[in-house]
Amino acid sequence: MITTKNPFTAQLIREYKLHTEAEIEQILEKSNVAFKLWKYEQIVHRTNLLQKVSELLIERKKEYSELMTQEMGKPITQSISEIEKCVWACDFYVKNAAQFLADELIETDADESFVSYDPVGTILAIMPWNFPFWQVIRFAAPTLTAGNTAILKHAANTTGCALALEQLFRDAGYPEGCFQTVLADHDTIEDIIADSRVQGITLTGSEKAGRSIAALAGKHLKKTVMELGGNNACIVWEDADLDKYIDTIVNARMQNTGQSCIAAKRFVVVDEIYAKFNTVFKEKIQSLRSGNPIKPETEIGVLARPDLVDTLENQIRESVDKGANVTYGNQKDGNFFEPTILENVRKGMPAFDEELFGPVAAIVRAKNREDSIALAADSKFGLGTMLFTQDIDEAIRMAGSIPDGGFFINEMVKSDPRLPFGGTRASGYGRELSKEGILAFTNKKTVYIK
Ligand code: NAP
Repeated sequence: MITTKNPFTAQLIREYKLHTEAEIEQILEKSNVAFKLWKYEQIVHRTNLLQKVSELLIERKKEYSELMTQEMGKPITQSISEIEKCVWACDFYVKNAAQFLADELIETDADESFVSYDPVGTILAIMPWNFPFWQVIRFAAPTLTAGNTAILKHAANTTGCALALEQLFRDAGYPEGCFQTVLADHDTIEDIIADSRVQGITLTGSEKAGRSIAALAGKHLKKTVMELGGNNACIVWEDADLDKYIDTIVNARMQNTGQSCIAAKRFVVVDEIYAKFNTVFKEKIQSLRSGNPIKPETEIGVLARPDLVDTLENQIRESVDKGANVTYGNQKDGNFFEPTILENVRKGMPAFDEELFGPVAAIVRAKNREDSIALAADSKFGLGTMLFTQDIDEAIRMAGSIPDGGFFINEMVKSDPRLPFGGTRASGYGRELSKEGILAFTNKKTVYIK
């Protein structure tokens, strides 16, 4: 049984029965049968259906936004932006899919040789609750358009969103079995991964889940894309234009009430601007409006589940025991966690070494620019790094020293349908979005004609 609860009111939303073994067999079989026809559909037919998804998302924006906010506590204005971003991703693939999937001619000794991008079959998508619509759409829009079918295993606490997404694809006119939601526990997911009808697995989630799912998929030789946790550094050099960028810098940490993989988690600030940065940063944090996430004025909602509050509390406590100072916030009430600033954060503390999944900013002092780059890169994660400076040439030169999936200068790390998105090291592997995303689950077939 799955129970969903509103994290702001603590009220029960709904209870759902898990799919039975027989129902799961049916889901797998339907997906497999659907693939046999779907893979031969013209791309224009597939993009027409995706266009319909985009239109329905616009039509149902209010309903879907409220559902997300109700299930996981995201401020409603951010839920609305999330649906709008889903529309953007759909429209991007409607416009570009045919070109991305076109055969690629390559001159060789053959009369003709080319690479064709063939769909591979059913892809299992295991998704998190923090961006309940966006994470699914950024996978499904390109993957289905490439000719695959999909089975979604969403996070238990966003089961309502999972079922709404299944209905969305059905209402858009996708053939039966193209996109289905499975309600299953972790053991059952293991069996689905092992099933020969499943050809690939994509996971967006924690490092822990990544290690476990990648190991299982490896055992069965299934291709995977892993979008895992992050501990992004936000480097601030002495010449940073704080007047211009402080809103971006604060948003980089506090967006989605701090529950974002690509959030700025460690603020690595050079000594020369350290005091000024802390003053300006704290002022802005103090001005954020916390409250009921369903109200449009709310900027900070609640954490999605009580265990997330406990984890964050323990990470802060241990960091303080090791010498960090709380200089702002750290009050809790139910699932509400006040925006918090931790100073004197150093390596060896959870606030430096681990992902803090909530509205807690860890401030790290760097001696100089060189030290700031070394501190930023000193992480097992590798999703992205941001650097604020007016010295663009020097910033570009630093890009090679950052071994992450992204490097953003004077901007927060963010996803954009036009650009590849993904991490390195403990943040996972593979890329979503852009051309890379639509080719992720394709067989890059060499065709040679003599
Ligand atoms: P999580 O606990 O890893 O859960 C993510 C999904 O994986 C859920 O659907 C969960 O199902 C499922 N899952 C976990 N362990 C599993 C297992 N052993 N077998 C089968 N399914 C399993 O992560 P979360 O707390 O929901 O999400 C937060 C994490 O996701 C953070 O680390 C964040 O950084 C990361 N994230 C990464 C990206 C990215 O693009 N790189 C984007 C967003 C979030 P249940 O709900 O049923 O447990």
